[in-house]
Amino acid sequence: MATLVSDGGSSAGRQRRTQRGLTRLLARDMRGLRRIIIPSRLEATVPDWIAAVRALVDQYGAASSTLAADYYEAERVAARVTGRFTVPLLGPPPEEQVSNSLRWATKDLWPRDPDDPETTEAQREPLDVRLEQAEKKAEAVAQKLVADQGRGTVQEAVRRDSQATAWARSAALGACYFCKALAIRGAVYKQDTANFRAHDGCHCGVVPVFKGQRFELSDHAREWERLYREFAAPHSGDQLRRFRLALAEHGHLPAL
Ligand SMILES: [Zn+2]
Repeated sequence: MATLVSDGGSSAGRQRRTQRGLTRLLARDMRGLRRIIIPSRLEATVPDWIAAVRALVDQYGAASSTLAADYYEAERVAARVTGRFTVPLLGPPPEEQVSNSLRWATKDLWPRDPDDPETTEAQREPLDVRLEQAEKKAEAVAQKLVADQGRGTVQEAVRRDSQATAWARSAALGACYFCKALAIRGAVYKQDTANFRAHDGCHCGVVPVFKGQRFELSDHAREWERLYREFAAPHSGDQLRRFRLALAEHGHLPAL
């Protein structure tokens, strides 16, 4: 008999919360690295800080990928498919990608000439504000890199496992309109080779679908889908904005 799998299933929710918990610990550890940056010696200390954050991203990324593999294996057992399969653990992102992301996060930190018209508002703030902003951005960047490693592990397993047919996006009730618009697409079949699109701070998960399983949208995703069809779909070119408004008007977007 076909088993049912859904973006709103309890194991999908648990996996999302586990990964979210992991990135919360990552943020806590990152805050512990703050003291590496010495304001009077930015040029010497920011590179050390980037190296330290990169080490954390590697460590947490490996944990994210292992947790995702455990989840995938449990889902596979629950789906009662045949044959053995070992989930390949996705490695860390290239060193350069991590460094570039962190350099981007710290770009407003450097002293600028306040009279230069190119200097932005953010760059005119006092150093402690700029530091605060840089750390916030770096946390968001690191969160995405780590979460992507877990999500990528599930996607790669779906691609390689002959018993897996598709994956779906699992968005939390509090997810943003962008993620909800993607979640209502339901099961994305592996021949479609669609990549998972995520933004900084996105906690969406990837749900594997196996042979013999039927995918169904959860009740809440079906409601998002209804709103999309009714209020957004007919407005070509303006669909995401309309969808965001419809979600907000119907109480499906978290208050900002
Ligand atoms: Zn998301």
